[in-house]
Amino acid sequence: MVKSIVVVGANLAGGRSVEALRKIGFDGRITLIGDEPWRPYERPPLSKEVLWEPGKSTQKVFLHSEDWYQTNRVDLRLGARAVKLDLAAGGVRLSDGELITAERFLLATGARARLLPLSGANAPNVHHLRTKDEADALAKDLYPGARIVVIGMGVIGSEVAASAHKIGCEVFAVEPAAAVMIRAVGERFGHWLAEKHRIKGIHVRFGVSPLALRQQGGEVRAVELSNGESIDCDAVVVGIGIVPATELAAGAGLIVDNGIVVDRSSRTSHMNVFAAGDVANQPGFFGGLVRLETYQNAADQAAAAAESMLGLTVDYFKPAWFWSDQYDLNIQGVGRLDDSLSIVVRGDLKYDDFSAFFLNGNVVEGVLTVNRAFETGIGKRLVERRISVNPAALADPMTDLRDLLKIKSDVA
Ligand SMILES: Cc1cc2nc3c(=O)[nH]c(=O)nc-3n(C[C@H](O)[C@H](O)[C@H](O)COP(=O)(O)OP(=O)(O)OC[C@H]3O[C@@H](n4cnc5c(N)ncnc54)[C@H](O)[C@@H]3O)c2cc1C
Repeated sequence: MVKSIVVVGANLAGGRSVEALRKIGFDGRITLIGDEPWRPYERPPLSKEVLWEPGKSTQKVFLHSEDWYQTNRVDLRLGARAVKLDLAAGGVRLSDGELITAERFLLATGARARLLPLSGANAPNVHHLRTKDEADALAKDLYPGARIVVIGMGVIGSEVAASAHKIGCEVFAVEPAAAVMIRAVGERFGHWLAEKHRIKGIHVRFGVSPLALRQQGGEVRAVELSNGESIDCDAVVVGIGIVPATELAAGAGLIVDNGIVVDRSSRTSHMNVFAAGDVANQPGFFGGLVRLETYQNAADQAAAAAESMLGLTVDYFKPAWFWSDQYDLNIQGVGRLDDSLSIVVRGDLKYDDFSAFFLNGNVVEGVLTVNRAFETGIGKRLVERRISVNPAALADPMTDLRDLLKIKSDVA
């Protein structure tokens, strides 16, 4: 029987894994190591409420109260950096030299914001957004009338642009691709969303890259672009993706390839070491390996990893599911939102009220809902069960989607 577990990374995946361990009934020693000063918290509010109402929402982001960790006998080591996974010594080495031994290890080290590779990117008014401290610092630079340049219109950049607009900033968005959030929602809906930002008054520049940051008095005061334009600004926000924190795994000789490679039980290439969340490169629902950067995956995979570490049989194998809130849009995506698939739309794009189903043949492989959270759950089940549908019935607003679930699945 397993008696001790060390989890490295005290955020969503780390926090949910220790919660699951106690829920399952694990009675042994748990150590949760995190290099941030905060107990596990949720990142989604950081690009939303924490920016609009900084003082108010900051306390709401934590997964559990401080007492919870004591009550559940979780030895929480905050502000502690793990520098080595020493498998020969059977433990994790902290930066102060302490070795914490265990029988099983979970690497929930997540990812870091990719840094803008331009001189001046470390100026205090250039913000990369991943952590609570970074969100608190950004919030101070977002005030009515401030000129903000957002570099990168992926999910984080788009959300920050919407939040800054809500605060009353004048927002300029610079994106090298042709539209917004293409990696998440595909081109067609990326263009639809780009139009939403335009209508709100965001000054969008597509197909354009930042070339230089012009500094004055230690702060960046303008961003020079590849189209020859220079945008004066009070602050810059960079949202150009994340880099998985794989160094502990790589140092221990585990297989690392765009993240820590795991199987469907979240086990790495070493039998006593598991990985979950944004750092894990896992078997994809549609084949190959995929590294998901979503809240739900981090929470669910961490819970699955907890079961695996205790020797329970686990087969964690789910399509991606994310959500994003921008302006008055609640956007949710499940599975493959791939422009090469055929797309059936229910509802109306004009009224920001629709669901788009992405079909491979007649099989639903992806669902995008906008202000239709009620259709996301059914869409998710259609994707998970690889249901074959009649596209005309799917498009018909009179069809109850639940009836489609009764149709025979394409997989056994
Ligand atoms: C601003 C923002 C908004 C988001 N909004 C949404 C959303 O609306 N919807 C959605 O689906 N997803 C959203 N996400 C994504 C979601 O929050 C992530 O998928 C999730 O946080 C991943 O959790 P994780 O625990 O795997 O990794 P992380 O959250 O990155 O946590 C890893 C932790 O490990 C620590 N760590 C790393 N290395 C070490 C070490 N050697 N020693 C000690 N500690 C270490 C890190 O400092 C960090 O605290 C958002 C993310 C951000 C940044």
